[in-house]
Amino acid sequence: MGDESKICKSLVLVASPFQGHMTPMLQLGNLLHSKGFSITIAHTKLNSPDPSNHPEFEFLPLYDNFSAIDPSNYFKNFLVKLNDNCKMQLQDHLAKKIKEEKNQMITVIHDNAMYFADEVASNLKLPSIVFRSCSASYMPAYLALPILHAEGKLPIQDSMLQKLVPELHPLRYKDLPFNNTPTELLKQMFALSERIRTPSAIIWNTVDFLEHSMLTKLRQHYQIPIFDIGPLNEMTKCPSTSFLKEDINCISWLDKQAPRSVIYVSLGSLATMDETELAETAWGLANSKQPFLWVVRPGSVNGSEWIEFLPEGFMEEIRGRGHVLKWAPQKKVLAHFAVGGFWSHCGWNSTLESISEGVPMICRPVYGDQCVNSRNLSYTWRVGLELEYLERNLIVDAIRRLLVDDEGKEMRKRAFFMKEKAKNALYKGGSSFKALKDLVQFIQADIDIHSN
Ligand code: UDP
Repeated sequence: MGDESKICKSLVLVASPFQGHMTPMLQLGNLLHSKGFSITIAHTKLNSPDPSNHPEFEFLPLYDNFSAIDPSNYFKNFLVKLNDNCKMQLQDHLAKKIKEEKNQMITVIHDNAMYFADEVASNLKLPSIVFRSCSASYMPAYLALPILHAEGKLPIQDSMLQKLVPELHPLRYKDLPFNNTPTELLKQMFALSERIRTPSAIIWNTVDFLEHSMLTKLRQHYQIPIFDIGPLNEMTKCPSTSFLKEDINCISWLDKQAPRSVIYVSLGSLATMDETELAETAWGLANSKQPFLWVVRPGSVNGSEWIEFLPEGFMEEIRGRGHVLKWAPQKKVLAHFAVGGFWSHCGWNSTLESISEGVPMICRPVYGDQCVNSRNLSYTWRVGLELEYLERNLIVDAIRRLLVDDEGKEMRKRAFFMKEKAKNALYKGGSSFKALKDLVQFIQADIDIHSN
């Protein structure tokens, strides 16, 4: 055994520059800091977190040479280059840290997209763990993609979309991630996956009761420890992690609305829509006659700065009943008594945040794990309505079913039940409580092995 009294337990968390990855990574840092570890957040200059919100962490900026997330040739041009650009900087920093601080035992925990960190840890003989911020249910669907591709089934034919995928119950072909991604991009994605080694352990932002069977499958597949310690948004109280400024005025607007009357609409930090989709969404919201809070992220409508493409007459029509904003304090919004439903793209953080507050959802996924999450919300957990097409009458129908009809009341009851189950997982005897204890022991044991 190493001399533990001399060992400073230091964790270097390597975060990726996506809002939906950065938020849970900072929450993870907060949680592990509360367990006595010192935390360094290594992050790209692109989409840096605000250090003033986290004075307890050390921050290590890595120069990535990007000024924005580049969606063109996303995997090859963006992710691969980002990883290549950051690798030596992290390696040099950690080598120096090891030399200077002899009593420091370091474990690297890295976002799965930042695979260079695993190569660095291996070069420096440091233990490393991967962190996954997507749902567990996404992985079997993702792992099936190369097989479907080899069988010539991708992109999925229209006639197959509603059919169930064998071995992936309850997913239909339309629920598969990247089901309409161009072949070239898919090939780049598979090539990238091959560069990622099997890690020594995985930390997963999920809860056992939500994804028990998937987690069992994944434990069999990977044959390594998987620590399901979510929902991280509830496991720890973390200060704001938003890249964009949160508009808190919406809370006083919500204060004036009737309980459970408002539909909150947000498509997360990356999804975009075109002008026609914007118009259908706008008139669907207006014609529902329900109050709504709608996040239109700057740049989220193709070719626009913000809301200049909103249809004529819309703002007058919704005056007093609708509130449009650039970025919301989403967790506070979902916890507000006036919010009765969440129309979401079903990103995993948004899904967990909605479940944590017992808010039923309208599910309108765009790509990736959102499609899988949407299927689980609407079919498996029955706390969401699937919105198949972005058409104003269908939108009115979905909002009224969720907020006014008995169907919505039943969904709200189930959502409330799930909220209670999620809370139970956090406390002594709960699955996430136990997984966190196991994770802390695992890191400690790794430190002991490496310090001998
Ligand atoms: N979010 C927010 N304000 C908004 C919209 C989103 O704070 O107006 C946060 C939301 O709470 C969530 C994250 O942004 O934590 C989005 O992550 P998610 O996984 O849901 O989707 P992604 O952005 O990765 O597609």
